[in-house]
Amino acid sequence: MAQNVYQFIDVKRIDPPKRSHSERTIEFVEIYQPMTNTQVEGQADRCLDCGNPYCEWKCPVHNYIPQWLKLANEGKIIEAAELSHKTNSLPEVCGRVCPQDRLCEGACTLDEGFGAVTIGSIEKYINDKAFEMGWRPDLSAVIKTDRRVAVIGAGPAGLACADVLVRNGVSPVVFDRYPEIGGLLTFGIPPFKLEKEVLSRRRDIFESMGIEFRLNTNVGVDVSFDSLLDEYDAVFLALGTYTPMKGGLVNEDAPGVHEALPFLIGNINNLMGWQTEHPYISLKDKTVVVLGGGDTAMDCVRTSIRQGATKVSCAYRRDEANMPGSRKEVQNAREEGVEFLFNLQPLGIEVDADGKVCGVKVISTELGAPDAKGRRSPEPIVGSEQVLAADAVIIAFGFQPSPPQWLIDMGVALDTKGRVVASEQSPYALQTNQQKIFAGGDMVLGSDLVVTAIAQGRKAAEGMLDYLQV
Ligand code: FAD
Ligand code: SF4
Repeated sequence: MAQNVYQFIDVKRIDPPKRSHSERTIEFVEIYQPMTNTQVEGQADRCLDCGNPYCEWKCPVHNYIPQWLKLANEGKIIEAAELSHKTNSLPEVCGRVCPQDRLCEGACTLDEGFGAVTIGSIEKYINDKAFEMGWRPDLSAVIKTDRRVAVIGAGPAGLACADVLVRNGVSPVVFDRYPEIGGLLTFGIPPFKLEKEVLSRRRDIFESMGIEFRLNTNVGVDVSFDSLLDEYDAVFLALGTYTPMKGGLVNEDAPGVHEALPFLIGNINNLMGWQTEHPYISLKDKTVVVLGGGDTAMDCVRTSIRQGATKVSCAYRRDEANMPGSRKEVQNAREEGVEFLFNLQPLGIEVDADGKVCGVKVISTELGAPDAKGRRSPEPIVGSEQVLAADAVIIAFGFQPSPPQWLIDMGVALDTKGRVVASEQSPYALQTNQQKIFAGGDMVLGSDLVVTAIAQGRKAAEGMLDYLQV
């Protein structure tokens, strides 16, 4: 590591350069440009190589961060990519979309006062660069078994599970109802955070490793769950959470009020020329109010700006400090012209004489006592109602579990919220109450993060390997 241990004082943290404001407000391309070799080596050299690396503990997949930073600093890109793939199935994706300020970088010793090491950007760099140099995972030493596992869902949880299985000689077949792999990485997260080519490259890599994808296949419709249970040695459920949370607002279904995910998917399909059931919704020349404060809300405001909306605001019922979305994304949204309206709770949608949306009635809030999760609950201030003008409203209140009927019929245990019950501490990690059935990702955790879904997919694969005695 650094000869000079005080390197972090001389070399300041730098983030990758962002595209210009004019490009960012019209183009659906990643806003962060690649760092140069020299920048990466210098930034990696800022790592103190702490004896007890908090970054590694805080990272849900426990990446060997100080070790691959050292390799990056020495210019050993292939070795760094090899090492990063030992703990993470989609490191180039995590480098792009993890909320690093809450995870690895938030735990970096240098974060207080000096600026954390740019861990996420370096993770992205080493893997993109290694792929560019032609490196691919080498599975030549893997001894194949006759075991086969059906993975339902090609989102990060399903992909991570398939990755670990195939590296251990088990043949995974991944089913997804959509025409491309990625789950919300492809049909949710907009290209200005994650370009779709990253996933198509990943699909090629996974296929060359021996993972089989059966896309456009809705389990329960095109193929029965029973037949998968019969045909395969085990099944991994990674279906995500897709029931949008309603606000119970008056006129919530009025024309001009849109749900977040169909809006985002329709936009992606339009850009990519893909067909799904979600039509394109144009917010050009509209005054848009987005309700919510998470990652999905941030993606909606930034998509609206790029579509040419006249004015875009985000109304959230708590203050900025209590917003669930990534700080980095809030800052990016602000730079792109989004107005944030904090401490405003929506009461109802206002409609004109034709029944179309013309505003959102809100009430100001102040924060009360912390709830069970430690978050302070918003309390309305009597008499503070006002109407925000809007001719388009997007509801981004998050998602609830959406367990399909066939899962319930099979007797798979769910908790009171509808999440599949599967524990990492079970004798076989993430096994459900049905021995051949394992589960992970958002459908077990509730809506969470890409990296936690990956962590669960990997753990479930380990549980299955134990169960299958591989
Ligand atoms: P999913 O990604 O939802 O994948 C589930 C897959 O299962 C889908 O492909 C679906 O088609 C498939 N499926 C479902 N039912 C069936 C069936 N019956 N048959 C076949 N296939 C089926 N997290 C971050 O860390 N950073 C971010 O910046 C971020 N931004 C987000 C933005 C948006 C708009 C949203 C909605 C979420 C965001 N998240 C983000 C959260 C993250 O995307 C999810 O936590 C993660 O994708 C969950 O992974 P998963 O594999 O459990 O489920
Ligand atoms: Fe940080 Fe996410 Fe990478 Fe872990 S996977 S090191 S949390 S960016």
